[in-house]
Amino acid sequence: MSPLQPEPGAAVDRSAGLFAAALASLPGTSVLLLDEQRRVLLLRGPAWGLFGLDPAYAEGRSAADALPDALWEELSTAVALALRGDVATTRLTTRDGRVHLRATATRVSDPTGRAGVSVAVSDTTELDSAQDVAHDHEHDVVRTLERSAIGVAIVSADAVLTEANGTLCRMVDLPADELRGRSLMALTHPDDVTLAITRIQDLLAGRSPMVAERLRLVGRTGDHVWVDLSMSPLTRGEAGVPTYLAQFVDVSTEVANFEVLQRTAHQFRLLAENASDVVVQIDLAGVIRWVSPSLSTVLGWEPASLVGTHLASLVVPEDVHRLPSRAEVLHLDESAVRSTVVRFRALRGTHRDMALSLRAVSAEDGLADGAVVGLRDVTEEQSARRTLARSEERFRLAMAAAPHGMAIADSTGCFVQVNAALCDLLGVGRPEILGRSMRDFLGPDDHGLLEQVDHALLVQRQDSFSIDHHLVAPHREVWVVHAVSILRDERGVPLFFVHQFVDQTEARRLRADLEFRASRDALTGVSNRADLMAHLALQLQAARGTARIGVLFVDIDNLKPMNDTLGHRAGDDVITAVAERLSGAVRREDLVARIGGDEFVVVLDHMLAPDQLRQIADKCLDAVCRPVQSRAGDVDVTVSIGAVLASSADTPDHVLMRADSALYVAKEAGRNQVSLG
Ligand code: GH3
Ligand code: MG
Repeated sequence: MSPLQPEPGAAVDRSAGLFAAALASLPGTSVLLLDEQRRVLLLRGPAWGLFGLDPAYAEGRSAADALPDALWEELSTAVALALRGDVATTRLTTRDGRVHLRATATRVSDPTGRAGVSVAVSDTTELDSAQDVAHDHEHDVVRTLERSAIGVAIVSADAVLTEANGTLCRMVDLPADELRGRSLMALTHPDDVTLAITRIQDLLAGRSPMVAERLRLVGRTGDHVWVDLSMSPLTRGEAGVPTYLAQFVDVSTEVANFEVLQRTAHQFRLLAENASDVVVQIDLAGVIRWVSPSLSTVLGWEPASLVGTHLASLVVPEDVHRLPSRAEVLHLDESAVRSTVVRFRALRGTHRDMALSLRAVSAEDGLADGAVVGLRDVTEEQSARRTLARSEERFRLAMAAAPHGMAIADSTGCFVQVNAALCDLLGVGRPEILGRSMRDFLGPDDHGLLEQVDHALLVQRQDSFSIDHHLVAPHREVWVVHAVSILRDERGVPLFFVHQFVDQTEARRLRADLEFRASRDALTGVSNRADLMAHLALQLQAARGTARIGVLFVDIDNLKPMNDTLGHRAGDDVITAVAERLSGAVRREDLVARIGGDEFVVVLDHMLAPDQLRQIADKCLDAVCRPVQSRAGDVDVTVSIGAVLASSADTPDHVLMRADSALYVAKEAGRNQVSLG
């Protein structure tokens, strides 16, 4: 009786059996075939031994009886899902935790419609350890940035923090182990959550390359801290699921000072516009001839009682010298105005700051015979001016001490103030920045960003807007997250712009380095399995219509005996040489990956016909099959190659399976040859 048909009438047909057998013939893949009643029809491959399973015992029994309880518990859900028609994947780990497996359950059926489930199990230990390495690298990033003034976290694809540096912990007053596992949303101020979710969803869905947003984080005590959050993808796992590097720059001081500045500037303007005027007419000796009634409101004196008194008697003694002298009045012509601020005594022993403007008045003979004095109460305005000056000073200090680059531009966009951090960032002195505008520090490709900023701030009337780009300076180029805020007057007219720049250069370099390392095979430097799978998935997706891609499965012949006779290190030299030679034999846009001990996969872009595939496979074979100078002397090396064409209808797993089957044929036929699948 065939192992596929343990009993007459078993509910799985030959094609399903062949499918299972083909899967089982893949090195490292094990397979379990069940009928609809979850009876074990077939059990093949090395994985089952790890669970102490014996095919002779298991086949013909119900899975619940045949499989260890823990294993069946893990598999039964996937099997149930597969019977419903889904392809279900689950992860299994041996009891000692050493071997990681991935089980994929697929529904299979015979021509009469009777269903079964095939469970393919492959060893992902190497892949998982590569991902662990990537994770270790993420630790590295956080450790590297531990002392940074910037809060740093690694965030998973579901927006949960998996790592956080000390700066971030201090910002929210929570220890790292309490931060880990928290959702970024749970740390965000309720009023900012909606915006944060929208931006982060855009990032996760790939609609935007990064998040750059100003929002509030809420700490343990419920207090909030304003941060500039920037978040971008870090590494890409096998399934294409990235993790994210999030950076938090504490901008609370700037935000608080900016708000105070905004408020005081507003108050200042209201006061200036609503001050009431007093008019006094004096003769050349300074004696008051007439006073407008508003004087009583401003200073409290009865206007009529002042007529005939000296104007100077209303002024505090220290300021009397500020009043224009008789000679000055005589020399003023009628159109000239003299202005100054003088303190006037008020009724209750207090005094008011009055802006004084004076115009000469001439008599009929044309000679000056007195003056009209306009007085405006500017006491509040003066104190507001002082407050404003203090606010501006505080803001300037906050800006000077800010850990990141800041600049203030006037309403035309021209930089009028810059801080030391920006000079450091650009590697130039203040004079080289002052008087210039943002455009002078952008690459030509980025000029359009300024229109985005103008649109957001001036058309949509947002208060601030963030972008990320290069800053181009004479001697360097840095990546920054750049936030622009606007200060408007009460009519909404822009007064000035505050630019803040957070240096992203190092973070970007680390990220690129991490991405690169996470996608590489440590021994040979070519792509690893994770990178191959991601690339293959993309290439297959991109292949349209009749377009085909070529896939070569390359396995070194008889490496085991080489290792045995020449040593493992000589074997490593052979593996490395094969990687180099394969890379040299194909075009730049093709991909070479090492996916197992002596197994390589080459993905060939734009392949049209089988002839072309054979030609390139032969070229690879020729390039590789030459002696290698190993550290144990020259070694003759040959490889076998399974070559297949794939289209957008294929899945990466299926293509690799087909290529591996073709490789098997090449090996069986005597090695050192190409077999087209
Ligand atoms: P075949 O011709 O059928 O391919 O035989 P083979 O001896 O090459 O054996 P196979 O491909 O089945 O197994 C690969 C062998 O490569 C197993 C192991 O001894 C060796 N190997 C796997 N990884 C490494 C490695 O990193 N370095 C070295 N030196 N050898 C490795
Ligand atoms: Mg081999």
